[in-house]
Amino acid sequence: TMQIFMPLNFLGFVYREIRGALANIDNLFGLLETQPDVKDAPDASSLVVKAGRLEFNNVSFAYQHQRPIIHDLSFVVEPGEKVAIVGESGAGKSTLIKLLFRFYDVTDGTICLDGQNIAAVTQQSLRQHIGIVPQDTVLFNDTLYENIRYGRPDASEADIYEVIRLAHLDTFVAELPDGLQSRVGERGLKLSGGEKQRVAIARALLKNPPVLVFDEATSSLDSHAEQHILSALRQAAKNHTSLVIAHRLSTIVDADKIIVLRQGRIAETGTHVSLLAKQGVYAALWQAQQQEQ
Ligand code: ADP
Ligand code: MG
Repeated sequence: TMQIFMPLNFLGFVYREIRGALANIDNLFGLLETQPDVKDAPDASSLVVKAGRLEFNNVSFAYQHQRPIIHDLSFVVEPGEKVAIVGESGAGKSTLIKLLFRFYDVTDGTICLDGQNIAAVTQQSLRQHIGIVPQDTVLFNDTLYENIRYGRPDASEADIYEVIRLAHLDTFVAELPDGLQSRVGERGLKLSGGEKQRVAIARALLKNPPVLVFDEATSSLDSHAEQHILSALRQAAKNHTSLVIAHRLSTIVDADKIIVLRQGRIAETGTHVSLLAKQGVYAALWQAQQQEQ
């Protein structure tokens, strides 16, 4: 029986790994984009992150030669800081995240984490150190428990309960007939956008990487759901270097620094208060959003 059992067990493992890897990639930006040929350098080292200082140095980028998207962009996220990137659709916000994840190589300049150029380290070690809460989380056809545990497969049950609490999922879970054993995804329970995002936050909390990236949901959540997500985000960002792409400015008023991106360039940068005082692009965006409500 051993001979039959072992390979099946192994296949199960391989299946989980592949499924995990696929879900991870297609989680990030919705559809499976054709992966460009980003290769590890032959002498690539393993990224070592202690403090978690993130630096974009004169970064330029074009998907196609004729059409530059990011122009000579520089900014720093100091260890433990929360920096928000805002700007109109098409400004290049998601592109910055793709560059940080090294889905593409920069055309010019460097992106460094604790002084190490991300182009010089293995992609695997890079992605180990970055947690991402995508705009639209894809859940596997599995239990809620497994979907969260995916953040760190060797996590204990106590750790999982802890992140469920921190991500404000506990009340939601308590109301489910099968609790954490409820199946979710295509053939299970359908979760709302806000609930899925909180599952992603729980996953990220469990993974506990030094750098966190949030791509905030655009979908109009009711204010109750938004408050839950906000406090879950704040919890997750504690003691982490975090980069938040924000659509609703009300969610980033507490950011250490706000970068207003326009056509791949930094139009303005400052805190919520200083940017309002400037009465520029940010102030106009803020006023427009206040009126919508
Ligand atoms: P944002 O997230 O701020 O809305 P993006 O970074 O997604 O903006 O896009 C910035 C610009 O890059 C847009 O003009 C978009 O059309 C273009 N773009 C995004 N992805 C690709 C791609 N894979 N190939 C070519 N152009 C792209
Ligand atoms: Mg985007």
